[in-house]
Amino acid sequence: MLANDVGQIGSLVCEPYRRDGRGMDRWLIRWRLTPLLLAPWWLTLCVLGLVACHEPVPVAESEPSATEASATEGLAPKGLATEPFLIVLGIAQDAGYPQAGCSKACCRRAGAFSERRRHASSLALVDPETSQRWLFEATPDFRHQLQGLDERFPPESSPGLAGIFLTHAHMGHYTGLLHLGREVMGAQGVPVFAMPRMGDFLESNGPWEQLVELGNIALQPLESGIAVQLNERLRVTPILVPHRDEYSETVGFLIEGPQRSVFFLPDIDKWERWETPIESLLERVDIAYLDGTFYSDGEIPGRDMAEIPHPFIAESLRRFSALGEEDRSKVRFIHLNHTNPALQPDSEAREEIEALGFSLAEELEEIRL
Ligand SMILES: [Zn+2]
Ligand SMILES: [Zn+2]
Ligand SMILES: [Zn+2]
Repeated sequence: MLANDVGQIGSLVCEPYRRDGRGMDRWLIRWRLTPLLLAPWWLTLCVLGLVACHEPVPVAESEPSATEASATEGLAPKGLATEPFLIVLGIAQDAGYPQAGCSKACCRRAGAFSERRRHASSLALVDPETSQRWLFEATPDFRHQLQGLDERFPPESSPGLAGIFLTHAHMGHYTGLLHLGREVMGAQGVPVFAMPRMGDFLESNGPWEQLVELGNIALQPLESGIAVQLNERLRVTPILVPHRDEYSETVGFLIEGPQRSVFFLPDIDKWERWETPIESLLERVDIAYLDGTFYSDGEIPGRDMAEIPHPFIAESLRRFSALGEEDRSKVRFIHLNHTNPALQPDSEAREEIEALGFSLAEELEEIRL
């Protein structure tokens, strides 16, 4: 069925549709059939003159429509409903989970119809007061992620994106932009916030250049350390980090709301290669989604992991062990590779992370700002 095709997000957010759609039909059919099934009893009662035969068929009480249900589910508890919030739309490394071509145990656990599938890392930012929505990253899973966002917080018109922020030009972070183009949505002027090299890359390489030429996207230049004011109460600041920058520079994003702030950093080389101590960012924010690509060295047999440097989660746990409980609780690892044992819900790796006071990002979790 369709919900399986859209993976975890689809299967979770499609639930209200199933309830209100076919569930409602089944309910009505049952009630319509009830008088027939009970016909002998009705007849008896009529003959006895105890009850009128034309007793009306009960009518189903109206349930909220699919749109109403999904809209309200996406919102905060009463009293907080107008606060902006982030939704996690994906937690996996660029290739998603399972990864194409992987026939090992890691990915056999997450077959095509499994709820264990995960999308490439992405966040959505929503401001219910202005009905604005932004995406962080345009991943290869863009269509599922936009659908998931639409079902949770329906746009007034498609694609309903006030902007897309891109961290860098690796596969899992920008290739979903193609869905805005001629072959799919034919969007008009979706603002795409990109650092200078990232913007140049999009403008001067096909097929991305066509998105620019046709006006599907409108590039918005970013500068490291300079905040972009999204509206009166939301702002986003790109922060340059060291990474394998073949095609673009790489940034993390500081996302600040009226009450709380979040740091999103899916990709970085080792912490030591960054002149900014990550701890200084942790002090400043309420939640930090940090690069948790690999758990430890040797995770990809036969491959030199120095060629694809990331802070191993095991290294981060050691480094962050000096932090107080409060700062440790801010860390949520994201961008997990298919080989990362912490992807598995019952793994020792996950247990260790949680026992030390850290956590793992979960798809569809929401953070109030
Ligand atoms: Zn990545
Ligand atoms: Zn695998
Ligand atoms: Zn990368």
